[in-house]
Amino acid sequence: MGKRQKMAAFLLILIVCLCAGCGEQQVKKSELILDTAVTLAAEGADAQAAIDESMARLKTIDSMVNPNVPDSDVNKLAQLAGTGKWVSLQPEVYKMLATAQDFAVKTNGAFDVTTKTLVDLWGIGTDHAKVPSPVELAAAQKLVGWQKLELNEEKQAARLQEKGMGVDLGGIAKGFAVDEVRKIYAKYGIENGLINLGGSSLYALGVNKEQTAWRIGIRHPRKEDAQEKMAVLPLKDAALSTSGDYERFFEAGGVRYHHIIDPRTGRPAQSGAISVTIVADSSVPDGGMLTDLLTTAVFVLGPEQGIHFLQTMPHGIKGAIVDGRYQLWTTGDMAKELEDVSKDFQFWQGSGELQ
Ligand code: ADP
Ligand code: MG
Repeated sequence: MGKRQKMAAFLLILIVCLCAGCGEQQVKKSELILDTAVTLAAEGADAQAAIDESMARLKTIDSMVNPNVPDSDVNKLAQLAGTGKWVSLQPEVYKMLATAQDFAVKTNGAFDVTTKTLVDLWGIGTDHAKVPSPVELAAAQKLVGWQKLELNEEKQAARLQEKGMGVDLGGIAKGFAVDEVRKIYAKYGIENGLINLGGSSLYALGVNKEQTAWRIGIRHPRKEDAQEKMAVLPLKDAALSTSGDYERFFEAGGVRYHHIIDPRTGRPAQSGAISVTIVADSSVPDGGMLTDLLTTAVFVLGPEQGIHFLQTMPHGIKGAIVDGRYQLWTTGDMAKELEDVSKDFQFWQGSGELQ
């Protein structure tokens, strides 16, 4: 190729590249919503509009589930608990509660949104966190039980049977919110982006700026520096959630008291799991909400029961559970997909057999 031809070829490539970017706008925005650092990234002509509408939507969802908002649906439910009165709910809250109840049954009560009285009693992550007395624990536990949360689908209403009960949507709302943002992105024709709710629930859409799958770092559960990774998972058109005992906890007498409560013992779950990551591909409806609640549920169930439970889930769902010996228990092709796995961890020997 002569010099001129080379130049012409170069210019052609340049023009093609520029045009590929025509109208493609990359926008990224962060805000504190749902008690978490939300970061939304989107690429496309309407990226800014999609992100603005998504942030507004997240604030609306926050106002429905936030116990600090006096007239939030969850507060109304607590206020009217034990009176026999039904509370009409916004469809979003109804959907979260109905899904929660479905999984309370499926997990034999490991996932239970009525765990609220226990969550409040332990106060993990607040300035009044403490180990409660056995008397306090017993009293709070009496006010926990998914069977005492009644739903009426036709009326889109709910009620709690006993005074003092409440619901806590902390284990499901962020995942639900991810799905809602995903819908807004779809409406605006966004094909590439990252919907990230504090790293604990996210959706990776299409590809990143380098035109490759988004690379999601999974946090090392025992390193203080949040940047230290256990592994990296390339993710494309899928939702991912992670739950761990390192998110919010305090230590007393050598025991780690964390924010995932086993409703059956009334205490922070000691199931053998220390971190759980679940992925749902785009074939799974409500994938964000499901991965969010499943990480909490599987954490409570522990590695062995958790793996078996995940095997009963739809095909597009897979997971990785880390136990206290730093063994990775995986389902689906998770073992193959995880990259840069820190040498602190090994795959549990049964991982392959269970695929
Ligand atoms: P995060 O992503 O916020 O760290 P998770 O998704 O792991 O949290 O969910 C933990 C939260 O779920 C707790 O902070 C609490 O609000 C709620 N929760 C705790 N235990 C349970 C349980 N057994 N079932 C349902 N919700 C729970
Ligand atoms: Mg969760």
